[in-house]
Parts: sequence; structure tokens; C-alpha cells
Amino acid sequence: MKQSSNQNCYFNNFESLFYLNVDAIFAISLDGNVLKVNYSAQNWSGYSEEELLNTNFFQYVNEEEQNNVRRCIESALNKGFVLCRFTFQTKDGKRKYFNAKFIPIDESDCQKGLFIVLHDISDLSEKYHESEKNFKIIAENVQDVVILLNDKLEYLYVSPSSKDVYGFSPDSINDEVPEPFFNIHPDYVKALEEAFYKATVDGKPFQLLLKALHVERGWIWTELKGTPVFDQHQQFRHMVFIARDMSKQKEYEEKLKYYAYHDALTGLPNRRYIRKCISKAMDQLNEEDKKFSIVLLDIDNFKNINDSYGHEVGDKVIVEFANRIQKAFEDVGTVARLGGDEFIALLHDVQSEEDLRATIGKAKQALCKEIDLYVNTTISITISIGVSICKTKYKKASDYIKNADQALYRVKEKGNNQFHFNYL
Ligand code: GH3
Ligand code: MG
Repeated sequence: MKQSSNQNCYFNNFESLFYLNVDAIFAISLDGNVLKVNYSAQNWSGYSEEELLNTNFFQYVNEEEQNNVRRCIESALNKGFVLCRFTFQTKDGKRKYFNAKFIPIDESDCQKGLFIVLHDISDLSEKYHESEKNFKIIAENVQDVVILLNDKLEYLYVSPSSKDVYGFSPDSINDEVPEPFFNIHPDYVKALEEAFYKATVDGKPFQLLLKALHVERGWIWTELKGTPVFDQHQQFRHMVFIARDMSKQKEYEEKLKYYAYHDALTGLPNRRYIRKCISKAMDQLNEEDKKFSIVLLDIDNFKNINDSYGHEVGDKVIVEFANRIQKAFEDVGTVARLGGDEFIALLHDVQSEEDLRATIGKAKQALCKEIDLYVNTTISITISIGVSICKTKYKKASDYIKNADQALYRVKEKGNNQFHFNYL
């Protein structure tokens, strides 16, 4: 009886608008009881009016979507009008996808309830599934790893490429729920969490370079790009991560860095490297009064070795000489190859000229020992050495080097195989 008085109240004036609307319209009470339906609602659902009336609207809504629909009802009652999207179970067991308007019934003398106006968007839904299919096709065919994480940091999806890139299969994640960021090196987890939450707030993508675990190779450099995805209500849905193995690029960068400061033939530091060391030594001289010395070493008549035995043997002599020079000065300074057959040693903490002469004399002896070229073939070399004892503050690096060069030149002038000291 109560229902029929309500019906009169709701529908007297706008009956045709209600009944003939192309969208399905349900009038429901606050607890979901179906009070009235129009023709489209009957057509869409496959149920007759008699079958629908006095049933609960929620029985037609997917279980996992019921809470969302309840929230929409609450929100409509507060705000006056709300748009939602959910699937409706029809009589023949099919699921129809609807955009729904929730409109509170605003009649003070009537029982409170809502109109739910359902607009069929199954076509759109198909497109959505199609785009999901497209997403999978892309995600499952890219070399990078695609990962989807929700707001609780639960893994929603990991692309199969994780097997190639990190050595674990996505199935292992489905079998056993992993910890959030389970394969990220502990040093980077905090920065990643911060970037994640920042992106969920400001909506901007982010990018991090970090180390991630490969099951067999251990920690590998990884570039991780995160893009937050939001729904139509601007609610954060999930983060799409694209992870890329950067270990090869990193290795390449390290190699470039290495060769920028090292000589390719001998592996010794190069001119650029020793320049930096000299700058440091100059700072120590200027600030702490610490003397240093620069020792230039040049093989005598090296061209003859090349000419007599060929360049390859010449290279062999240079490499052997480099090893010896490294060994001779490793405890007292840094050595580098300047180019050709010319080397440099930067010696720190020069106590006295006497000590220095002893060190250099000993080194010269070791450097001039016979070098084995092939079986039963050895070669003898002599070297010229020019030394600058650097104790004058506030000079330029090139002044100290020039001073050592002049000392070397003196030796060469005098006929090689000697060492000469200069002071600056
Ligand atoms: P000096 O006694 O005056 O030092 O003369 P030198 O014959 O030793 O010749 P110099 O120092 O004037 O020149 C070095 C030569 O070393 C010139 C060049 O052909 C050769 N050379 C330079 N770089 C390399 C290299 O990487 N490998 C080989 N095998 N030879 C090199
Ligand atoms: Mg030479």
C-alpha cells in the first residue's frame, strides 16, 4: 500500500519521461528495494516488471562492485547527483556494462530513495577490453619489464620479459605474494617509495637509476620509469613501471671514464690523470708546505728498437717498462705514461735530495735490467731521467713540468743514461 502511494507521488507528473526513456531507470529505496522500473530496464535486464519489483537492486550487481555502488548511493544522497560505472547481471546471465547516474528522490512527502539511470556502454566496455588486450600485446612483447603496482604496493602485473631481464618468471609472483619492491637494492628502496607516493599525489611520472636483483647475475643497474594512472574521479589506480637493464650502458660509461684517465697500451694512468695529481700536490705545497718532485723518464734511442724489431716488439718493451716503473715507484708516488716512450712519476713527501737520489738510482737499476723479447732473445735499454724538486709555492703546474723537462733535456744533451736534478 505504502509503495503505491509512493509511486503516485514519484511518477504522476513525469510518467512518460520515466517509462519511455531509452536509458534503463530503476527507482529504489535506501536499502536497495526496487520500487519501480521503466520499459528499457525490462528490455535491458530481460526481467519483467513483476520479476524486478520488490527485489533488491544489489542482487543484479557483481559482488566485487557492490561496495562501490553503496558508496555511490551515499555520495549521491550527500551531493545530490553522482556518476558511477558498474556491470549489471541480466536474466540470461550476461554482464552488461553501464554508466549510471544516481539521483536522490527529492520529494519531502515521499519515502526517501534514488533513481538509478543506467546507460548501456557495453560497446565502450568492449573497447576497454580491446585496449586491455592491446596493453598485453605490447607489454608481453617489449624487451623492458612492465610492472603494475596498486596503492597497497601489490603486484598486479609483471610482464614475461622479467625472465630474461631479471631471471624470475612472473608466475613466481602469482604463486607467492612478494614483498613490495622485493628485488630492489635496500639502498634505493626509500627513494623509490618517496618517488612512488609523490607521483600518486602530483600525478607526474618519475625516473630513477637504481640496482635491482637478477636471480643469477646479482645486482644490476636498472632504469625505472614510473607513471601513475588515475580513474575518472582522479583516484589513483596503479603505477605503471617500465624497468630497463642499464648494466651494459653503465659498463660502457665506466670504460669510457677509465680510458679518459688511463693509457690503453699499458693500463697506466695518463697525462690527464697525472695533471690532477700534480694539482693536488701543488695544493699541499701551497697550504701545508709539503714538497714534491716530478720525475720524467725517457727510454734512450727507443726508435732503434722499433726499427730493428718492429712496432710489436716496441710495444712489448713499453708495456714491460710500464710494469717496472709502476713497481719501482708504487710506494712513493704515482706514475703515468705521457706518450711514446716517455713516463712521469710524481713523488710525495720528499725529505731530502739524498733520499731522492737513492730512490731514483734504485729505480733506474731495476728499469734497465734486460728485457726478454722471445726465447733466448733479450734486449738492454738505458734511460734518461730529469727530476724537478718542487718547493716554490704558487707556481703553475706547467712550470714544474717544464723544470723537469729541462733537466731531462740536459741529460739527453750530455749523452743519455743519466739523471739530472733541477729545483723550482
Ligand atoms: P731519444 O733517445 O732522444 O729519446 O730518442 P728515441 O729514439 O727514444 O725517440 P723519441 O723519444 O724521440 O721518440 C719515441 C719514439 O717512440 C717515436 C715513435 O715512433 C715511437 N712510439 C711512440 N709511441 C709508440 C708506441 O705506442 N709503440 C711503439 N712501438 N712505438 C711508439
Ligand atoms: Mg726516447
